[in-house]
Amino acid sequence: MIEPGNPALVPDSTSLLNEFGIDRKWLAERQLIPYPEAADLVVAQIDPDGREHLLTPQTAAAWEGLVQAAEADGIVLHITSAFRSVSRQAEICRHKQAAGQSTEEIFTQSAPPGFSEHHTGCAIDVGTPGCPPCIPEFETTPAFAWLSAHASSFGFHLSFPRNNPQGFVFEPWHWRFALTP
Ligand SMILES: [Zn+2]
Repeated sequence: MIEPGNPALVPDSTSLLNEFGIDRKWLAERQLIPYPEAADLVVAQIDPDGREHLLTPQTAAAWEGLVQAAEADGIVLHITSAFRSVSRQAEICRHKQAAGQSTEEIFTQSAPPGFSEHHTGCAIDVGTPGCPPCIPEFETTPAFAWLSAHASSFGFHLSFPRNNPQGFVFEPWHWRFALTP
């Protein structure tokens, strides 16, 4: 029988960190925190091509309220990416490595596996019509202006503003749900 968290299926952080040559000192400098992987997830959005976006039930409910309020103000928001498992994050990082990116480059754009908010089921990469997903120009959209003014009333906060202590690039599209900031 396969148990959840079977190391053969979900590698532990230590082996993943070793794989990418990441040590504890570097993690501490970057102020990166390991998060548990969400176990309880619901479908928050289904794309026209059938792709499902998963979030924790609480995040999905808060997101629905936010989307409706935005719509009432004439702003259309959708999910471009939500829950992503630790193993999927590792695959993405391996892919970037194979494409010749340096560790430094990879981990200013992506969190090391085990350290991404996306596997908590509480983080959303937000999209809006007319703006390609996850580009810095999202900052100039009415959607970003609306989120900056109203997202916190729904419990959503921008995770990586400019000059964030974790050393990630500015991600105007990435918002996380938390009851407290
Ligand atoms: Zn993100």
